[in-house]
Amino acid sequence: MPTLTVKKTALWAAGVIAALTLISTTIAQQPRAVDAKVLQTAGTAKDALPGTWLTYGLTQTEQRYSQLKQIDESNVGKLGLAWSAPLAPAGSRGGTEGTPLMWNHTIFQPMDNSIVYAFDAFTGEQKWMYDAKIDPATRTHMCCGTHNRGLALFDGKIILAANDARLIELDANSGKELWQSKVADINQYYSFTIAPRIAGDKVIVGVGGGEFFIRGFFAAYNLKDGSLAWKFYTVPPKPGEPLEDKAQEAAAKTWTGDWAKYGGGAPVWDGLVYDPETNLVIAGTGNAEPWPQEMRGIPKSEWGKWDNLYTCSIVAVDAKTGKLKWYYQTVPTDSWDFDSVGGFIMADVQIEGKTRKVIMQAPKSGVFYILDRTNGQFISAEPFVPVNWVTGFDKKNNGKPIINPDAYYDQTNSVVIYPGGGGAHNWAPMSYNPNAGLVYLPYSAGSYTFNAAAEPDPRAGGGAHGLGRGGQDKKTTPMPIWGPDNVGRGGLQARDPKTNQIKWVKTGRGGSIGGGTMTTASNLLFQVAGNTLYAYKADTGDELLALPFNLPGAAPPITYMIDNTQFVGFATGTQFLAMKVGGTAKMPDPPPAPAFGRGRGAPPPPRAPAPAPAEAPHGQEKQ
Ligand code: CA
Repeated sequence: MPTLTVKKTALWAAGVIAALTLISTTIAQQPRAVDAKVLQTAGTAKDALPGTWLTYGLTQTEQRYSQLKQIDESNVGKLGLAWSAPLAPAGSRGGTEGTPLMWNHTIFQPMDNSIVYAFDAFTGEQKWMYDAKIDPATRTHMCCGTHNRGLALFDGKIILAANDARLIELDANSGKELWQSKVADINQYYSFTIAPRIAGDKVIVGVGGGEFFIRGFFAAYNLKDGSLAWKFYTVPPKPGEPLEDKAQEAAAKTWTGDWAKYGGGAPVWDGLVYDPETNLVIAGTGNAEPWPQEMRGIPKSEWGKWDNLYTCSIVAVDAKTGKLKWYYQTVPTDSWDFDSVGGFIMADVQIEGKTRKVIMQAPKSGVFYILDRTNGQFISAEPFVPVNWVTGFDKKNNGKPIINPDAYYDQTNSVVIYPGGGGAHNWAPMSYNPNAGLVYLPYSAGSYTFNAAAEPDPRAGGGAHGLGRGGQDKKTTPMPIWGPDNVGRGGLQARDPKTNQIKWVKTGRGGSIGGGTMTTASNLLFQVAGNTLYAYKADTGDELLALPFNLPGAAPPITYMIDNTQFVGFATGTQFLAMKVGGTAKMPDPPPAPAFGRGRGAPPPPRAPAPAPAEAPHGQEKQ
């Protein structure tokens, strides 16, 4: 019947319209997928997805400078808890360190032992949880704890560098595992604590393990299937083995003697950036291993003459091929665990009347380095805490550090080195506010006494690095110390990279291990230090907020905007906390103290931040 046909057609058409409406609504609710172009705009004034936090350092320059202005000087004092969500307890080594991401109304939080949480970013409701199920038996093969500092996000997928050196891709909506690649062998003492970074169609990751006897490297994997694209080794192969390329040929000429039995070291466990303008991947490399240079085959008559490339260096490679483009060694012949690994910041800065495309790093050595990121050209290096291992920088030789020869040590001569154990600045993120023109740097100042042992032992705790015990009974050569005189034992400093002047200092706020920062276009600087969220005026350092939370852990804060509300969020060792102006949710109770033994997640009692000890015990240092 014709009438019925018409009715059927009308019903069919109505059904199609309904279905199309449903599809279009669904599409409208899906945010734009994150690709290389979106990442290039992430966190900038041209942000394709404003209000999100899509990559470890917010922008690919890793400035941790947010465009958001709803929270400002007038209302930041009214920040209160909007929501909290429980997290698996952090490990026993001082709380969690993970920076979350925010995309698609969702917080993605990495936690210790390679657990990832997804929370609704407005309500805190848990969407999913993923556990990489690290075999507890492998933990003795991880040099420096079970932290996970961050995640990468690309095309609706989350990429996790799991503690046991596996790279794992998850569906961001469901938490379902899509692929995993074994990057290195945990049984060979390789591990991961690093946040992977996206470089075009690849994901870059670097290994930890330099406190054991590894050959360090970083590597690129193809995002489409997790296959290896390239690998850059940070120390050459064992003598006699084939050299992979010209970079390894050059490196091999800077080592001597029987060094290879201890691997060489130079892990890549934190600082890593991708610069889309130059298509360079720039990585920071860790200490040479073992620490005393004589154990790396260098006879006393030749101390300081072998650089041991590419240990303690900033290396830039082509993102497509992994081939070396430039390097700068921040500490030649490292003998003091001065990993050149702390996070980088890239910026365009006016220096001596010219706009320079700089990369900045403040590693454990206590020196603030500024280089031209396009070619590795030296711009400046200035101590940010008292130092004595270096006497200057040779400008005729691209700023090569001039090592104080008295800083070398052996079994009979000990040295007191400034800065000390754990380094002057470790993993806690710096930030840069281009309006204020300042870099915010959490730091520690101190010293440590070095002398060599007879033999390193990778299973002997502090002796793993070839250090002798104590050193106080040895002959010690006094050395002059230079650097700023207003930085106390540790805290937060605001530096002007144009002049290397320290504009303001908050002593006792964070240090080399904790105290990560984030800054905004409304002239605010946020810091999570100890058990308190602080906010300061970015230009002057005037304190605007000190919000205690009485929970363990010291992960860095992020900020994001959702449904026209700006949040400040961060992980503690036991809870994720999201703050907003006028938030009135009840702060979670601290976890109960353990009945006995060493606490997992037990909070330290609330107290004023203590100054860093003059000699931090190396057994507790981070990487
Ligand atoms: Ca180290």
